[in-house]
Amino acid sequence: MPLQCKNSLAVKYRSVIERSYDRLVEYFDFEPGDISAIVLPLEEFDRLYESERGHKPLPFIVGSALDNGRILVLDREDFAKKQSHSIGEFESVILHELSHIFVRRITWPRHASIWIQEGICEYLSFGSAGFSGKDFVPFDELESEQGWDAHNPYPQVGAFFEYLARTYGDKKIVSFIKGLKEGSGSEKEVFKRTFNHSLRDLEKVFVESYS
Ligand SMILES: [Zn+2]
Repeated sequence: MPLQCKNSLAVKYRSVIERSYDRLVEYFDFEPGDISAIVLPLEEFDRLYESERGHKPLPFIVGSALDNGRILVLDREDFAKKQSHSIGEFESVILHELSHIFVRRITWPRHASIWIQEGICEYLSFGSAGFSGKDFVPFDELESEQGWDAHNPYPQVGAFFEYLARTYGDKKIVSFIKGLKEGSGSEKEVFKRTFNHSLRDLEKVFVESYS
């Protein structure tokens, strides 16, 4: 199995991690290569996060997709100690972080815009939870890391991918992600080729569906 549980807590949650992994192999119809999982209690989680990412985690961060196919997730017993998280979200966070590794490996060596990466991962793990249509941020503003960090609109991008799935089907989403590989045109070109509508047009329809 190319999935390794790197420490004792990860081993404890092996079946949860494997279930998410299997689901993603099936969803993307893709074998991602070696992936390893690390699950840590609060203090150790914060410490490893900071040494890997170069800054302390924001108060709501409970997981991260690190370099070299590693996912880091907070122990479920400590979820309630972080801002706006509950213990029941543990499996969704595992799925979310694993999705990042899949998406990175599928589009490698290209890095998809952060809102696309977060959108597909959020849709698969939390769906559109928490999005009401209010405070919509245009996707153009979310292409850069700075733009993303100013808003952190996880529910919005999850809801947009859910809308795409509902309207065009999950297979189209997978072809979009697979189409993002280097040399296949800009993200907007790949988007239009896949969904037959420009991102701008579908963004408008999506926003209107909430009004
Ligand atoms: Zn994410």
